[in-house]
Amino acid sequence: MKIAIIGAGFGGMAAANDLTRAGHEVTIFEGADHVGGLAAGFKEPHWDWSVEKFYHHWFQSDRHMLGLIAELGLSDKVLFPRPLTVLLHEGKWYPFDSILNALRYPGLGWGINKIRFGLVGLYLKLTNNWKRLEAVTVETWMRKWAGEKVYREMWEPLVVGKFGERYANQVNMAWMWARLKARTSRLGTYQGGFQAFADDFAEILTGMGVRFRLNMPVSGIVTTPDEQLTVKAGQYDQITFDQVLVTTSPHMLAGLAPALPEGYLKGLLELKSMGAVVLTMSLRQQLSTEGYYWFNLPKRAGFPFLALVEHTNYVSPAHFGGEHIVYAGDYLEPGHEYFSLTKEQLLARFLPAIQRINPDFREDWVIKTWLHRANYAQPVPLVNHSRNIPSIQTPVKGLYFASMSQVYPWDRGTNFAVEIGRRAARLMMGEE
Ligand SMILES: Cc1cc2nc3c(=O)[nH]c(=O)nc-3n(C[C@H](O)[C@H](O)[C@H](O)COP(=O)(O)OP(=O)(O)OC[C@H]3O[C@@H](n4cnc5c(N)ncnc54)[C@H](O)[C@@H]3O)c2cc1C
Repeated sequence: MKIAIIGAGFGGMAAANDLTRAGHEVTIFEGADHVGGLAAGFKEPHWDWSVEKFYHHWFQSDRHMLGLIAELGLSDKVLFPRPLTVLLHEGKWYPFDSILNALRYPGLGWGINKIRFGLVGLYLKLTNNWKRLEAVTVETWMRKWAGEKVYREMWEPLVVGKFGERYANQVNMAWMWARLKARTSRLGTYQGGFQAFADDFAEILTGMGVRFRLNMPVSGIVTTPDEQLTVKAGQYDQITFDQVLVTTSPHMLAGLAPALPEGYLKGLLELKSMGAVVLTMSLRQQLSTEGYYWFNLPKRAGFPFLALVEHTNYVSPAHFGGEHIVYAGDYLEPGHEYFSLTKEQLLARFLPAIQRINPDFREDWVIKTWLHRANYAQPVPLVNHSRNIPSIQTPVKGLYFASMSQVYPWDRGTNFAVEIGRRAARLMMGEE
């Protein structure tokens, strides 16, 4: 078959890998000038490694991604350091990256709350019955089983941080289950950064015959009278394919293929998602001299962003010419003012918060800043969300859709982009 894939993120590239190995002819259309999608990175000329536009790492449980990397013969480039994640309690930071550290955290006292926190965590790690959990919100379930104090102290800041006040009490408990199930203390990256992996993968695919059309945003997909699909993209107006796999956001697909029947289109358009805003700084000095990597910042403590991540407390600053790389990031509804403020305005708002991490920090430590924003960054799973997942095989013959919004009950991530990309490839080849 002649197949088009829209999007050169990890979902699109994983599908291209399997389709090409099975003998099909694949062209990938990508709107950006690089591969990697949301996991892409950028690099200064004097850096050896790239920095992700949005902080990224793998978990040791990411078997689809690590399996693909092994198949590609690239496993020796994967590193799994164990960086420190910390949580704030009464003005002090406490490690929070393992069950043991969670049990030592003083925010819950030493009584019944800590026991309930531990038992609930253990239950969620052991159970596989996410279906029952999706019928109830995180708020209701945690209040009932972990108790008011544990919910307020531990879980509410997480759901408010990730989904904002609007959705925090609507997110279903299967999301939390998936999050706890898949996490590990060691976090993985690729030698050279995620962009280096995306580039290595693209090079292997090119060697196998996959055609990459970068800087080529697709503007429409139309069915021909003989039931093939015509893709409209840049100067290649109107190329015809037997099948097309779209890996963009649901809203983008709805715009590209208006011929989709009303029910499917409505399903796409009703899905909710959060955007992401990440300001990255290179600094002359280390910010967290304790060597902390990930600071979880509760919004109620007055921080203007959700996470502060010192990348170079995870991988060596030597990869970045000795500079220290720090991200300040948040998940926000598209339309939030952070999507329209300039980089300088955001930096001015963030600087006082960075000083709270290290009182010695001064503005002249900042060498350079970068601002990255994405409207479609985190799907929002409401109660009984499994009923709302669009099928990979759309009602239009030959048109397939594989996106972050369909990896549920798992939370989005490159591991699940690979899994759904490969699942889509199997469906396209009639193997599922
Ligand atoms: C802040 C943040 C932190 C994250 N942290 C992690 C993490 O630590 N670990 C992890 O594994 N994952 C993480 N993720 C999630 C991860 O980035 C995604 O799950 C994954 O990259 C999705 O891959 P994809 O191929 O499904 O989609 P995408 O990567 O979004 O790829 C879709 C591609 O389609 C292209 N495109 C869109 N419209 C068009 C068009 N009209 N024509 C042509 N091309 C088009 C886009 O440019 C893009 O390249 C994070 C995401 C964010 C936002």
